[in-house]
Amino acid sequence: MDQAKTVKILKFHAEKCNGCKECEKACSQVHFKSDEGGDKSAIRILKDKNGKYKMHVCDQRGLCLDMCPVGALKRNKKGTVILNKNICIGCQACVGFCPIGAMRKSDVRIEPFKCISCGACVRACPTNALELVKVNIDDIKEVVYYKKGADE
Ligand code: SF4
Ligand code: SF4
Repeated sequence: MDQAKTVKILKFHAEKCNGCKECEKACSQVHFKSDEGGDKSAIRILKDKNGKYKMHVCDQRGLCLDMCPVGALKRNKKGTVILNKNICIGCQACVGFCPIGAMRKSDVRIEPFKCISCGACVRACPTNALELVKVNIDDIKEVVYYKKGADE
């Protein structure tokens, strides 16, 4: 049951970012016990076509929650969209479905991975370019299909 009313989502302050990718490395530690960043990070810092840094990460909207065939995607008590690795059968449907491409395929295990709003990236950022902010779930639930953010 979806009881949480609020959720913490990442906010990016592009003007403070220097592109060091310490955030990606910290995220890789959480998900893969590695400091590779890049494809092993749920948060990506990319450059837009004007050379400005932008963040690409799950916004906890939860559009994927109802489409997992085995119910492996749920909101936890804090409102964060979580993938239960013990239930997931690795069908990758959520990876293909996510309208912003923020459910990431892993090349080392069958289940995908995503941002869990743990704040590891926020703590790792040397310039305070990242922040976790609390928002009302009702306000972000609105279905907005916008362009895929990961145009590397
Ligand atoms: S990959 Fe796992 S979490 Fe994603 S839709 Fe398939 S079973 Fe559900
Ligand atoms: S750690 Fe901070 S400054 Fe470095 S790339 Fe990430 S957001 Fe930008």
